Amino acid sequence: MSRRGPRLVLLGKQGAGKGTQATRLAEHYEVAHLSTGDLFRDAANRGHELGIEAKSFMDRGELVPDETVLGLVEEQLAVGDRARHGFVLDGFPRTRRQAEELRQILDGHPLDLAIDLDVPTEIVLHRIAGRRVCSQCGALYHVDHPPKQNWTCDVCGAKVVQRDDDTEESVMRRLELYEIETLPVIQFYRRAATLVHVDGGLESDEVFKSLVETVTSKFDPAKP
Ligand SMILES: [Zn+2]
Repeated sequence: MSRRGPRLVLLGKQGAGKGTQATRLAEHYEVAHLSTGDLFRDAANRGHELGIEAKSFMDRGELVPDETVLGLVEEQLAVGDRARHGFVLDGFPRTRRQAEELRQILDGHPLDLAIDLDVPTEIVLHRIAGRRVCSQCGALYHVDHPPKQNWTCDVCGAKVVQRDDDTEESVMRRLELYEIETLPVIQFYRRAATLVHVDGGLESDEVFKSLVETVTSKFDPAKP
C-alpha cells in the first residue's frame, strides 16, 4: 500500500497568512492544495458551468452558494483519488453544512486535522489596513515598508494608494462576518476532535515550523 499524505482543512481569517501556509504545507507533504478562490477562477476560465456560476457571485461580492462550492470541491477531490492521498483545503468549508457535506464526500477517508490558524485581530488589522498598492502595476507596500520616495512606486513611479476594501472599517466588517460564519465550523470540528489551534501571529517561517510539528505529531499515515 502506498503511503498517503495528510488530509487537512486550514481555517483562518483574512490576513492570517492562510494561503501562503496552505501552499507550503501542500508542497511539504506532496499533496494537492485546493484553494476555493483558485478553484472558482480556474473552473470559470475553463468555461465550467459551476465555475462561471461561482465567479458571478464572487464578482458581486456575494458568498458562493453551498451547492456550487460543494460540486466543485467534490469534483477536485475525485481527481487522482485526492480524497484518499491527501490534500490541504483552504477557504472551505465555510459553513457548518459544507463541513457536514465534506464528511460525506470523504466517506471512509476521514479528515486528519482541521487547523485553526489563530491570529489576533490587532495583527490582521495592522497587516491589511496598513497595506498600500501601486495604482498602476499593483506592487504591494505597507506603511511599515513604504516605497523609497513619497508614496510613488519603486517599480513604475505611479502613485501608491490604499484600496477601498482595505480601510479599517471595511476589514473589521469582514472579520466580524468571518467570526459569525466560521464559529459553527470550528465547533463542528471541535466536537469531532479533529480541531487544533496554531499560533499564526509569529513570523511566517516560525508559523510553518509549528504547523509541520503539529501535523506530523497527529497524523497517522497507516490509517486508511
Ligand atoms: Zn508601480
